Amino acid sequence: MPDNSFCIREDVNLAPYNTLSVPGKAQKFVAISSQKMIVDVLHMHKNDAPFFVLGGGSNVLFIDDFNGLILHIAIMGKEVVREDANHIWLKVGAGENWHEAVRYCVDRGWGGIENLSLIPGTVGAAPIQNIGAYGVELEEAFELLTAVDLKTGKERVFKKEDCEFAYRDSIFKNELKGTVAVTDVTLKLSKSPEINSSYGAIKQKLKEENISDPTIKDISDIVIAIRNSKLPDPASLANAGSFFKNPIVSDEDFEKLKKDYNSIPGYQVDDHRTKVPAGWLIEQAGWKGKVVGRVGTYRQQALVIVNHGNATGQEILQLSKKIQQSVLQKFNIALVPEVNIVE
Ligand SMILES: Cc1cc2nc3c(=O)[nH]c(=O)nc-3n(C[C@H](O)[C@H](O)[C@H](O)COP(=O)(O)OP(=O)(O)OC[C@H]3O[C@@H](n4cnc5c(N)ncnc54)[C@H](O)[C@@H]3O)c2cc1C
Repeated sequence: MPDNSFCIREDVNLAPYNTLSVPGKAQKFVAISSQKMIVDVLHMHKNDAPFFVLGGGSNVLFIDDFNGLILHIAIMGKEVVREDANHIWLKVGAGENWHEAVRYCVDRGWGGIENLSLIPGTVGAAPIQNIGAYGVELEEAFELLTAVDLKTGKERVFKKEDCEFAYRDSIFKNELKGTVAVTDVTLKLSKSPEINSSYGAIKQKLKEENISDPTIKDISDIVIAIRNSKLPDPASLANAGSFFKNPIVSDEDFEKLKKDYNSIPGYQVDDHRTKVPAGWLIEQAGWKGKVVGRVGTYRQQALVIVNHGNATGQEILQLSKKIQQSVLQKFNIALVPEVNIVE
């Protein structure tokens, strides 16, 4: 029998629970290890709302203390729930570490998520922004998720078509923002994986390492190596990865920008829109590697805002606003945060 007893702590310091390491206190905080526990907590602590669901804290910015109850999701477990000649359906607890789940699949030859190696955080948070990297997005291997509705305490199942996945976006960042706690995610993985090496840096590395017929383990190892060389490890320099989304502009606007800035990079996303790397825009606006008090942008990648030590959420928010203003002034492009700002 699983132990469904829980302990609600008060005045919990949030710094160890977010990779930007900003301080702030949660009025109440509870570690959740089962779906039933969520239902019980909701039932017994209705008056402690608002609730906030927290995973690994690698995509949140706490601006202040949180005056409510934080549900810290630690639901574990992996189970093959279905299998046919070509696919495996793996159900994974929302509290499992995402990268460990990727390696679990890679080790067994189950393909589809190897390009998403080393993305920090939990499995339950992965659908929230439809995590993506190196030419792959979660939605490609997503089958369904189970969640608890925080208002009713009822279980809800979301299939792929219910999630409204888009670029770093889903229904859970919009219409259903803050209203559900994901308890498990089922992935559909391939037993005879197709390798996705379309991304330039992967191609380059395969060439350097003389690998002509890569396995999913090769891809995973390469992605890990690329990421380690490009992104700061939050354990040594606090950050939340890309702070902003890459803006998507109309082809017409992109052509206008190209007239003024002929080196501007752009990637066609469909017949009439182009994605522009936010890091390039921020760098051109003069922010790369800048330090402002206790915060700044990463010296190798301007898109990553870093906490150089003991900065508050307010300081990070102020810097992000200054960056947004500069980019708006210079390029007439409004940057939208990818990080979830908790006020
Ligand atoms: C160094 C670094 C590199 C990164 N690289 C990438 C990248 O390449 N691609 C990418 O897409 N992201 C990237 N990220 C962002 C981050 O890793 C992902 O968004 C990740 O999915 C967040 O997981 P988490 O558990 O830390 O979520 P948290 O930060 O805890 O939460 C993020 C959001 O999801 C919600 N949430 C979390 N868990 C649940 C749940 N169980 N149910 C309901 N809602 C939930 C929270 O309320 C919050 O709104 C990076 C971050 C860092 C620090």
